Amino acid sequence: MTNIVLTFDPSLGHMFRNFPLLSFLPCAPVRFVPPPIYYYLAQPTVPADEHGRAVLAPYGIRKLEASLKGRTKYTVEVVHPDHLEKHIREDTKVIGVNTMDPLGIGPLTLMFNNAGRERSWVTEEFLGLMRRINALRKERSPKAKVVIGGSGVWEFQMMPEALDKLGIDYAVEGEIDDIAPLLFEGIIEDSIDTTVFMFGYKSTTFDINGRPRITYVKDPNGRFITRHPFSRFKLPKVGEIPTIINPAISGQAEIMRGCGLDCDFCEVTTRPLRYYPPEKVLEEVKVNVRGGLRHAWFVTDNQWAYMLKDKDYWPNKEAIFELYRTVMSYPGVTGANPMHATLAPVAADPELAFGVARIVRAGPRKHIGVQIGLETGSDKLIKMHASRKALPLRVGVDGTWAEIVVEAQKAYNAAYWIPAYTIILGMAGETDDDIWDTIGLINYMASLNLYFTVTPMALVSLGSLRGTRTLTDVYASMTPAQAALIYVCWKNTKRMAEALAWRIGKDNPFYKILTTLILNVGAKIWLDALKRYFVRVNPENERAIERAERYTHIKTTGTDFRKFRERYKAMLHA
Ligand code: SF4
Repeated sequence: MTNIVLTFDPSLGHMFRNFPLLSFLPCAPVRFVPPPIYYYLAQPTVPADEHGRAVLAPYGIRKLEASLKGRTKYTVEVVHPDHLEKHIREDTKVIGVNTMDPLGIGPLTLMFNNAGRERSWVTEEFLGLMRRINALRKERSPKAKVVIGGSGVWEFQMMPEALDKLGIDYAVEGEIDDIAPLLFEGIIEDSIDTTVFMFGYKSTTFDINGRPRITYVKDPNGRFITRHPFSRFKLPKVGEIPTIINPAISGQAEIMRGCGLDCDFCEVTTRPLRYYPPEKVLEEVKVNVRGGLRHAWFVTDNQWAYMLKDKDYWPNKEAIFELYRTVMSYPGVTGANPMHATLAPVAADPELAFGVARIVRAGPRKHIGVQIGLETGSDKLIKMHASRKALPLRVGVDGTWAEIVVEAQKAYNAAYWIPAYTIILGMAGETDDDIWDTIGLINYMASLNLYFTVTPMALVSLGSLRGTRTLTDVYASMTPAQAALIYVCWKNTKRMAEALAWRIGKDNPFYKILTTLILNVGAKIWLDALKRYFVRVNPENERAIERAERYTHIKTTGTDFRKFRERYKAMLHA
């Protein structure tokens, strides 16, 4: 039957009423989002075929499937997490699980669950999956190995004891597109080639100039596996990365790897830049279209770096437009958007946002969603930690960071894009003044009635998580300014839920009404509860929150952006 069973964390298989903001729901604590509400909002979940195989699956597991199928002597299937009993049998040798935030310690989840004090849904669902896998393995194939992979593997580096508790044999980290068959055969046959693989993991440290540096940590217990730094197989070139062979959730199709902007808190930047030519992207889009997915969602950490040639980081506009044109001209494709992008290129050249909008036929009823790291409203912090993020502009020369952000935000909205921003609290060197810069920026943009969300993420000392779940209470240890910033972020989310839940929901009218109601009421309850909690842990927070309600100040250099709207509108209709 199936020798290698691949499956995924159930929270990755939900489609959350096709409402973009809801994809953060698994980060929420189980105690505050009761099961009936969670499972209602999480629907629909990816379907399974009559054999229990996932009809749609997360992109990462589809990539692994493509790397293994037909390239190893063992049989491989991607199995729906609800139908594992149909495939885990006596001849199963490996059960591979793709996960993003298994232990609930991702930066965003920590903010929701107060550093693991509450159990988040993402962990609840992962633990349930592991219980089912271990029960089936015990009953049917005790020698099968359980292997974990995906972007959440680093969490086991923080809490290695969880591997034993959850019955996990190996945690595999990094890109293995080109060498997956070698690894899985080595695991099955107890003969992992240690010239190709190393027992350990990569760790990113930063030198005194904030430049990321990769180091390798050996694992004497042989549970963590990564590509050996001196392996004869270097990181795969684009031609060595297989095309997915079955559809990926949300029509995901990879366009590039790496980013090159060197933010000092980001691991992505340590990966070399590689770009898929449009024809290769189209191959994956075709697979998704065959699966009924008419919208292409480009997997990238920064779309504006696609096919980059300019050393000052002026995006390669023609290559980006060509990519969109190629995909949009394929019969059946009705839209496309990138997973991640940045702000500054659009502030410098709004035609980037407008050009893509024209090609994908965006409009008042068809917005383009994109996730963007705004990080901070402070010039000082952006220059310290992410100075290249402002390229091709320069903070302090071409405007303040706040001016660049506002300019890009206006252009994005005018071209029917809605950014979902993340900001970081707790960067080295952060003071309350920096926090107030961020509060002012968010409030200023909200006062202009611009459309965006902001999700706060805390840079907590993950070292203190090793072997424990008793990290300091994130909220109780915050300064009043930080508490006020979090409050302002959620207040803006409430504003967006009120403005957009009805307009961008894609359910039938009954479910649209119900979802809109739950989102609006839920946002209000959450905001009120958050404020009460902040005031309870520190009465000084109340004054800071009151001040933040009115604080709309941003630093400016007098850069003249007065005529941008007319200019952008003219571009859109050109
Ligand atoms: S722009 Fe984003 S992906 Fe690129 S290095 Fe900075 S944080 Fe990482």
